[in-house]
Amino acid sequence: MPHRDTHDVIVVGAGASGPAAATALRAAGLDTLCLEARNRTGGRLLSVPTTHPERALDLGATWFWDGEERVRTLAARHNIATFDQHLAGDTLLQETAGVRRLTGNPISAPSRRFSAGAQSLTTALATALPGDALRLDTPVTAIRPDAGGRLAVLTPAGPLDAGHVVLAVPPALATERIDFGGVLPAGLVRLARATPVWMGTAVKVVARYPEPFWRKEGLAGAAFSRTGPLQEIHDLSGPDGEPAAFFGFAHARAVRPGFEQAVTTQLTHLLGPAAATPDALYAQNWSTEHWTSPPTVQRLADHSLLGHPLYRRPALGGRLHWASTETATEYAGHIEGALAAGERAARSVLTARENTDGPLTGAGRPFDAD
Ligand SMILES: Cc1cc2nc3c(=O)[nH]c(=O)nc-3n(C[C@H](O)[C@H](O)[C@H](O)COP(=O)(O)OP(=O)(O)OC[C@H]3O[C@@H](n4cnc5c(N)ncnc54)[C@H](O)[C@@H]3O)c2cc1C
Repeated sequence: MPHRDTHDVIVVGAGASGPAAATALRAAGLDTLCLEARNRTGGRLLSVPTTHPERALDLGATWFWDGEERVRTLAARHNIATFDQHLAGDTLLQETAGVRRLTGNPISAPSRRFSAGAQSLTTALATALPGDALRLDTPVTAIRPDAGGRLAVLTPAGPLDAGHVVLAVPPALATERIDFGGVLPAGLVRLARATPVWMGTAVKVVARYPEPFWRKEGLAGAAFSRTGPLQEIHDLSGPDGEPAAFFGFAHARAVRPGFEQAVTTQLTHLLGPAAATPDALYAQNWSTEHWTSPPTVQRLADHSLLGHPLYRRPALGGRLHWASTETATEYAGHIEGALAAGERAARSVLTARENTDGPLTGAGRPFDAD
């Protein structure tokens, strides 16, 4: 008889939410395997190294805010250094008529950052899992109830089998990339396909410089533009200004040939010749990331669907549980929401197991009526 790759729980996705779920499930004593499509953990947390050994620049999430206790506690538990976002100085407003200087900084909210980049959070979570609990480069392509009432999880590396599955990926992406063979309830599929991917249409541009020259001019490194291509700009420098950097958000629609030149022209227009030649310029287009955004991402705009009650109801006979920041009932969209959703999905698995004695009856048919 061939060896079956069997687990109590399979978690799909190792962004922030998946490892949070896997950590809680492992702590509860369940054999839990986390499968990640990319060759890295972090998902929408993506930090690129700099010449400073302990500093990185974030091409995905950057900040956390007061009250986000899961993020704060996780960082403290893993000795991840954090620091205050630089706010001091004046702000620039770019309009077709020209650039105006506004006193103070009305656009950057008080927040904290991670010295080694936000991805260090999921790196810490993943490193704390046992070595066999995470497989990279393993996209889940299909999920089906099997004849024994469990779930078959298909990957290019072969089939696996799980008592429960936690989907820690944006719902709209899950229904695009994972074949459920028509067994998901139609209402749930409609909801998932319509739920926006948080920041899924964003392009994050990061420009690194030898020093934070704008601070000498009394500028905060913050700007707001009605002309673009960057619509909103913030200081992205590390502690004490090292490394020195800005970041700005552009809409994916603005990315066309010559985009990077248009960005440096805009930065020069705003901040003068010193901005013309960054040491490095990154443009991370999240709308074209195969493992973040479905092709429909531009059309997903109904943010009231985030944290919808259906995401708290396990599907497929109580065996399929939703995580990801899009399903969070608090702080949806934020890292905090991703961690909260992962913990909630873990509780949902534990509750479902308590209520189950052996294989769940009814698996293998299209249940969970609309
Ligand atoms: C540009 C940008 C700026 C942001 N700024 C902030 C900020 O400042 N503060 C903040 O709190 N939040 C911010 N966010 C949001 C934050 O990044 C997200 O809330 C959080 O990272 C989501 O984590 P997640 O685990 O829910 O999803 P993801 O990070 O998307 O993780 C999902 C994981 O699943 C994997 N995956 C997908 N499909 C499959 C499959 N079929 N099989 C296996 N694996 C799969 C993906 O590769 C990914 O690793 C920002 C996001 C972006 C894009």
